[in-house]
Amino acid sequence: MEKTNNRPTVTMSRRDLINGLASGSVVAFSGAAASGCATNEALGRSQLLLVSDGQLAQLAAQSWTSALQQNKQTTDSSLRRRVERVGDKIVQSADRRFPGQNLTQNNWEFAVFDDPTVNAWVMPGGKVGFYTGLLDIMDNDDQVATVMGHEAGHVVGKHSAERYSQQMAAQGGLALANVALEAGDVENSALIAGILGAGVTFGLILPYSRKHEYEADRLGADFMVGADYQANEAVRFWETMTKSSGQKPMEFMSTHPSDTNRISAMQSYISQQGYA
Ligand SMILES: [Zn+2]
Repeated sequence: MEKTNNRPTVTMSRRDLINGLASGSVVAFSGAAASGCATNEALGRSQLLLVSDGQLAQLAAQSWTSALQQNKQTTDSSLRRRVERVGDKIVQSADRRFPGQNLTQNNWEFAVFDDPTVNAWVMPGGKVGFYTGLLDIMDNDDQVATVMGHEAGHVVGKHSAERYSQQMAAQGGLALANVALEAGDVENSALIAGILGAGVTFGLILPYSRKHEYEADRLGADFMVGADYQANEAVRFWETMTKSSGQKPMEFMSTHPSDTNRISAMQSYISQQGYA
């Protein structure tokens, strides 16, 4: 795994994650609170949710603080304003589309890390990290909105909570259904951040599943268009990423795997919806 900085990177498979969780040392549980299968209107399907986004948001707040402490933020205020401006518009757009999710009740925060790494991530609760390396290869605000829309799609899709719940179920952890996440597990902070979506900050690559990527792409396109951005820039952006990923390290591609099938699926969705 190539890296643009000297932080060691661990690529974690689903099996590794399950083993980690099964060892019992990964995330501590206590208390009570759980649900089960719930229909996510934004996805048009039901999903297994044994933990709420609110519970994950509490954990994410800790990972967010660590990420801000351990990574230098850009001093370029125009870059920060750009990411915040696009981020706000995308969040408002997502909120108009799915008011039932109360997205604006999250305390959305956007950080721009001064780092050549080509990456961006989101954690439950609306904590978004962008790297200057990614902004450097973007041609316009529509492409910033592409990534922002996609990341917001992961939040609306409750993908972190679903991923977490699937791991619990996979280890026969249904007995753990009545649990609440207990924060403060410093030792396993990388893995926790990985499940939440920001593991790369701590040198851990935990890719989203293909299904989650397709869903985030569709929602991202919806949010872009709702915020008056050009959806066809999403296709251009992913084509560029896919082409150049062979030439230089693209961490974003490790956590958000892409290929030509995914790009053509995005293209068909955009034309089906009449977005371009
Ligand atoms: Zn993704």
